[in-house]
Amino acid sequence: MVRIVLDAGHGGHDPGAVANGLREKDLTLAIVKRIGRMLGEYENAEVFYTRTDDRYLSLEERAAIANKLKADLLISVHINAGGGTGFESYVYNGGVSSQTVALQNVLHGEILVAMRQFGNITDRGKKRANYTVLRETKMPAVLTENLFIDSNDAKYLKNEAFLKAVGEAHARGVAKFLGLPQKAKSQPKQKVSDEKLHRVQVGAFADPYNAKQLAEELKKKGYPAIVVEG
Ligand SMILES: [Zn+2]
Repeated sequence: MVRIVLDAGHGGHDPGAVANGLREKDLTLAIVKRIGRMLGEYENAEVFYTRTDDRYLSLEERAAIANKLKADLLISVHINAGGGTGFESYVYNGGVSSQTVALQNVLHGEILVAMRQFGNITDRGKKRANYTVLRETKMPAVLTENLFIDSNDAKYLKNEAFLKAVGEAHARGVAKFLGLPQKAKSQPKQKVSDEKLHRVQVGAFADPYNAKQLAEELKKKGYPAIVVEG
């Protein structure tokens, strides 16, 4: 089993970028939930979320959760601002593994192809930066900046089908990178409610004892986003 941590940027009192009636924290959560749902269609994937609702976590906490989980990879989802246009992805600008670079390459390509089904999307490139969530995580980690909230890009971000396609492209990229087989098609697709989603993040633990212990530990330290049930 591989452990995948999905990190929806911002949340709670930190809305991220706000423009055109959109808030970054809502868009990142919507995309991340799409990623998680689609990863449920693959074998051998344990999906964890740094948050599944509108709550604040510091950047250090997000990295700590992924490190505690000994995750195999982390994807952090953001929306850009500052008046530009297009898509870009980031890895840490210090030493990164070839795995990290490979993950960025696969994700970047998948996401761009999906976005371009909706219009002319600028490729701003595969970039490197000293972002906390990338620097402080011990596993391959990529941060995506999915268009600009404060430019004409907003028309895409207001389109539910676009957010779905972007989320699914992240999932396909992860599956491709990890070589995850798809589950047999005969299994009926479940409609997963948010309530269920919250349980999926927990029920997916391979080792329930450690999962419980970890959740307790995280809770004590004030990370309420991961809850163990049953
Ligand atoms: Zn952001």
